[in-house]
Amino acid sequence: MSKYRGPVCKLCRREGEKLFLKGERCFSPKCSFERRGYPPGQHGKGAQFRRRRESDFNRQLRAKQKARRMYGILERQFRRYYEVSLSRRGLTGLNLLQILESRLDNVIFRLGFADSRAQARLLVTHGHFSVNGRRTDVPSMLVSQGDVISVREGSRPRPYFKDLAAVAEERTVPAWLSRDLRNLSGTVLRLPERSEIDSNLQEQLIVEYYSR
Ligand code: SF4
Repeated sequence: MSKYRGPVCKLCRREGEKLFLKGERCFSPKCSFERRGYPPGQHGKGAQFRRRRESDFNRQLRAKQKARRMYGILERQFRRYYEVSLSRRGLTGLNLLQILESRLDNVIFRLGFADSRAQARLLVTHGHFSVNGRRTDVPSMLVSQGDVISVREGSRPRPYFKDLAAVAEERTVPAWLSRDLRNLSGTVLRLPERSEIDSNLQEQLIVEYYSR
């Protein structure tokens, strides 16, 4: 599957806020947004001083792009998630966020086994994780209630996983997941509630964008 290969810090600058796409670096003074918090491009620096009236369409587009970039998903797949969320019962916006949160790469990130979703995706594609005891290399796999995600036996002696328990201990886990650091595994207890998902996502605007 193709993926965005450009400079990811540009995405934060484009959205005008930190999207935390690079793990530890995002919390350090090296963060590009801290140093150049204006949009990328030739006219980016001036743009921060220009006051523009934002159209509804622009607000909807930006909300959609921000969510897509945070979760590292390309447009076609994101639209497919929207269509699935539309066909489910309940609030479309919340359904969409719950689908995004249920992605295997996101769950591994939330469990603290990776410091960014991009790193989680890489670890999955390299075959270091199993779901319910079966090896998987598909980061977009959607997990459900009761699924157990673990680091595979064969991967545990690797330096990254040897130190992982100590590193992950510092990272908090949301209440909809449970983590077992001794076995380097985690369980999905339920789907997340809205209050347990990033509050800066504007799912209503995303729904409006796709239902134009
Ligand atoms: Fe965004 Fe992280 Fe890059 Fe800062 S370091 S601009 S938060 S991806």
